[in-house]
Amino acid sequence: MTYLVALDDGHGMQTAGKRTKPIPQLGGRVIKENEFNRQLVKLLDVELKRCGFRTLLVAPTDEDTPLSTRTKRANDAGAHLYVSCHYNAGGGQGIETYHYPGSREGERAAKLIHKELLASGVPRKDRGVKSANFQVLRETKMPAVLIEFGFMDDPGLSEAAQMLDPKVQKAFAVATAKGICAYFGVKYVPEKPPSPPKPMYRVIVDGKVVVDTAYEHKVAAAVEEAVKKGVTEIIIRKR
Ligand SMILES: [Zn+2]
Repeated sequence: MTYLVALDDGHGMQTAGKRTKPIPQLGGRVIKENEFNRQLVKLLDVELKRCGFRTLLVAPTDEDTPLSTRTKRANDAGAHLYVSCHYNAGGGQGIETYHYPGSREGERAAKLIHKELLASGVPRKDRGVKSANFQVLRETKMPAVLIEFGFMDDPGLSEAAQMLDPKVQKAFAVATAKGICAYFGVKYVPEKPPSPPKPMYRVIVDGKVVVDTAYEHKVAAAVEEAVKKGVTEIIIRKR
């Protein structure tokens, strides 16, 4: 069984009002909510695919895709879970995760994701798991969650400034993916650390450099060639 997860980035890039004030610690930069949401969805998409899920980006462009289009796409595709990513406003602080009132599966998903988000390593106040009659939660046929990862207008704007921090974005994407994995009983597959660079070898035949390579088969070919020629000396030296 391959599960399909619908991913919703919340708003369009130019949606009115959905942006921060100028953030002094970022030189007065204004951040649009969708700059965070879109990046979170992009990273989450990578995480989920690595874990064996299929994904559906219900609003893949920067346009302000209507909410009814978003939910219809998820419904038509038969998604098994709907995840909507947002950044809050209203002057508070912290993370809150929503499900539709009375949706037991939605609540289960929200709790599992919320728990992972609080353990993500990004310090955030726990505002709890809540229910709300939001359109994307109501109009989706599958369990749905809506995550408010932080506030765009928190006191001091530190959560606002973190919207563009790649480490924060990555930590939240990983945590959300872990929560989704837990919901489906799927093992989370962590990203492979980059493999160390392979050593280079130089093949010197009768005092002349024949090849510098990290490929075993090229070293072997150079040696074979030299032996065929009946050379006197073959040196293989790590560089
Ligand atoms: Zn939003």
